[in-house]
Amino acid sequence: MAAEIQPKPLTRKPILLQRVEGSQEVVNMAVIVPKEEGVISVSEDRTVRVWLKRDSGQYWPSIYQVMPAPCSCMSFNPETRRLSIGLDNGTIAEFILSEDYNKMTPVKNYQAHQSRVTMILFVLELEWVLSTGQDKQFAWHCSESGQRLGGYRTSAVASGLQFDVETRHVFIGDQSGQVTILKLEQDSCTLVTTFRGHTGGVTALCWDPVQRVLFSGSSDHSVIMWDIGGRKGTAIELQGHNDKVQALSYAQHTRQLISCGGDGGIVVWNMDVERQETPEWLDSDSCQKCDQPFFWNFKQMWDSKKIGLRQHHCRKCGKAVCGKCSSKRSSIPLMGFEFEVRVCDSCHEAITDEERAPTATFHDSKHNIVHVHFDATRGWLLTSGTDKVIKLWDMTPVVS
Ligand SMILES: [Zn+2]
Ligand SMILES: [Zn+2]
Repeated sequence: MAAEIQPKPLTRKPILLQRVEGSQEVVNMAVIVPKEEGVISVSEDRTVRVWLKRDSGQYWPSIYQVMPAPCSCMSFNPETRRLSIGLDNGTIAEFILSEDYNKMTPVKNYQAHQSRVTMILFVLELEWVLSTGQDKQFAWHCSESGQRLGGYRTSAVASGLQFDVETRHVFIGDQSGQVTILKLEQDSCTLVTTFRGHTGGVTALCWDPVQRVLFSGSSDHSVIMWDIGGRKGTAIELQGHNDKVQALSYAQHTRQLISCGGDGGIVVWNMDVERQETPEWLDSDSCQKCDQPFFWNFKQMWDSKKIGLRQHHCRKCGKAVCGKCSSKRSSIPLMGFEFEVRVCDSCHEAITDEERAPTATFHDSKHNIVHVHFDATRGWLLTSGTDKVIKLWDMTPVVS
């Protein structure tokens, strides 16, 4: 029997389902309400809104709550419908949403920080509220008693916060580019390690508890995949954005990473492929291909009476090469370079077309994304932009 030929769609891209508009200022965070056609948003305009889809097909607020300060972040737990909101004044305000999402009841306030709360995570299993603030503090509170359990001073303002429930490790990414790993106890914490791989600040973190991999996005345009739980301890760089990476989300069931940038780009990375670590850049006084000295090698220049050349690095082998020996460019998707980068002539010859096949897809959201949320059950992606608009996308054409 002949093999069945699947019709191949011409373009596979996210489908825009809905624009949710009406916020006066940027929506700093928002989530898709599971099993409902609804969105919960917190905005710089001080409002908390729950938007539900109406018969007209449009999303209208069923809850419109004005807070005493701009709302910087939130954490929503669907099982308990507990909504924790971080405010610009350092307070975390906690509410319970009614089953029909038409009412929110205040539960308690935490005086968590001296200034703007930057990230919140509610951990139901431990009844903990983890948070970071502009005051460079990481803090955790008991959500039952409301008591502060402990804190840790970070090296810079944190903009990424993730937690591994099983081992109680917290990952904090900050604006200096550092990622700090702490092990939390009930009322104390120990510093496990810090690591640094970005040349810009960390803007987002995403933890995959199954593969035990941490993704960090940065203003340096790159994403790094840190193999925390693996034995190899590799760090793989993913280069697919032309602007700051602003938000990350991981689709566990398909092993795809979604990264979003300030340029509106949505990149969907296939993480099921084995990628190689980028080589350390080697230092050399002369080109490692043709032996021409680089311009700071005064002695050899004097001896050979040659004009020095600028040092470049081949992204594939890491060798220091002159411009003449690295005139060609290539993408190297299996090393995370979806865009063309400098390679030496011998590496250029060695790269096969197969190796050049992209391992990511690129899409344009047409707004400057500040935050994303992915609903894995329906394959929906929420993007929030600096244009004050929330967009809902059907990602099933690309996340599958
Ligand atoms: Zn090379
Ligand atoms: Zn050369």
